[in-house]
Amino acid sequence: MLKANPHKRTYSNMMLFLRCQVEDYAFGPAKWGSERGLDEEFERRADVKSAKRGKKFLEGLRELRKRTRDNVWQQRRDEEHRHEYEDVEPDGGEEDEEGVQTQVCKGCGHVIQVEVF
Ligand SMILES: [Zn+2]
Repeated sequence: MLKANPHKRTYSNMMLFLRCQVEDYAFGPAKWGSERGLDEEFERRADVKSAKRGKKFLEGLRELRKRTRDNVWQQRRDEEHRHEYEDVEPDGGEEDEEGVQTQVCKGCGHVIQVEVF
């Protein structure tokens, strides 16, 4: 049975089948042969899916390890770098609070605010 797609009119028509038609086809020689054949195919696909999930998990783990390694590298870099701050004047828009001085590192651009006594 052809029916207009209710989600969007521009989608092509839906082809609707009776359950018995689907079952006849699925269990017939053109597809899975029998109910058992369908179950076997279902299990095969479930296996493929879980194998994929396992692969995805391993990939995620590898990615995480890589990121962790990068972090250690980054930490070491941070240790090597000693910030050298210099005063910056607030650029018009935002005025520093009374007694607060904004400083920026010449090396990496890190910004801190220090209290001025
Ligand atoms: Zn710095």
